[in-house]
Amino acid sequence: MTSHPILPGATIGVLGSGQLGRMFALAARRLGYRVHTFSPEYDTPTGQIADEEVRGSYDDLDAVRAFARQVDVVTFEFENISVASTEAAAALAPVRPSGSVLHTTQHRKREKQFLAALGIPVAEFVLVNSLADLRDGVIRLGTPCVLKTAGFGYDGKGQAKITPDTDLAAAWQAANGSESVLEAFVDFECEVSIIAVRGLQGEWADFGLVRNDHARHILDVTTAPAAVSEGTRREAVEIARMVMEALDVTGVLCVEFFLTRSGLLIVNELAPRPHNSGHYTVDACLTSQFEQQLRAVCGLPLGSTEQFRPAAMANLLGDLWQPQRPPAWTQGLALPDVKLHLYGKAEPRPGRKMGHLTALAASPADAAARVRAARGLLTGL
Ligand code: AMP
Repeated sequence: MTSHPILPGATIGVLGSGQLGRMFALAARRLGYRVHTFSPEYDTPTGQIADEEVRGSYDDLDAVRAFARQVDVVTFEFENISVASTEAAAALAPVRPSGSVLHTTQHRKREKQFLAALGIPVAEFVLVNSLADLRDGVIRLGTPCVLKTAGFGYDGKGQAKITPDTDLAAAWQAANGSESVLEAFVDFECEVSIIAVRGLQGEWADFGLVRNDHARHILDVTTAPAAVSEGTRREAVEIARMVMEALDVTGVLCVEFFLTRSGLLIVNELAPRPHNSGHYTVDACLTSQFEQQLRAVCGLPLGSTEQFRPAAMANLLGDLWQPQRPPAWTQGLALPDVKLHLYGKAEPRPGRKMGHLTALAASPADAAARVRAARGLLTGL
């Protein structure tokens, strides 16, 4: 398998076709690469930007092989892809990061066991395979606690908070009786994340720690940089580095943390790809998280992650679209220091990520206030 750099003019294959792939494709095309995307859907956020949009099931190994044959390197923007599929692709083109990285991070049990084995703090947890396990786990961890299905969860999907009043049999049924993790509830001060990138030869860069505020389990506003101590910042970088070296990641990875009131960083989740909390890097940093992914998977030197000014990003969910009344774009765009990004999705469903706004300002708090104000203007109220 080649370790020569994959140079502009080559073709990058992206498994997945959402907004992360779209912003990756924009970065790749700017540098003169061709992009193919593969997913079960059509007219997708990534497909609208890519040179080729291939439609197929991730489990159709022949389709995945046919896709990989047409490209110089395969990366992904969607992590719930089976090992069989990444192996099928890897026989024909380098897959970066590798399928084994996906295998660890796409499953909460494997991910937590991997982190715990490295001595990295995670919320106390028990594995749950039956209603009896759930009852025992709740006694052990106490309430509140959170039941999460082990596979295929994101944005709070497949999660249920367990309180003293919860009917455990109903909660277990809601989880479809599938392998789960029961987690102690973390009484956090705030949530923070770090995005880092590791090159083919182990080169390294990170974007620093950012603060994430959620609404209904979905990221709402990211503020960059986070107002944390230098020690916390350094510790986050060290954890990200340990994780990426242990997994031998080539590409971008996001570590999401809970920051406790006593200043302890507890890892919540890993995502081995660009992340929603890094969208601000497109407007605020010399090299975006998407261009870093491109540089890493192509074996090119990494770019500078220098941030020009404090920034904040607000997600635009489908809820902003009222029947017969799209958001008031001209009013939102009237703030000249706010940038609008839309993902080309035709159907605005509640909770669906349709786009985001980024504001740059003199301080992180000002940027957060500004981006919230801009989003408020979109509702036309
Ligand atoms: P996740 O899908 O695991 O990232 O969870 C989505 C959100 O739910 C997190 O960002 C937190 O806001 C909240 N959450 C998840 N797990 C816990 C926990 N153990 N303790 C407190 N809040 C949690």
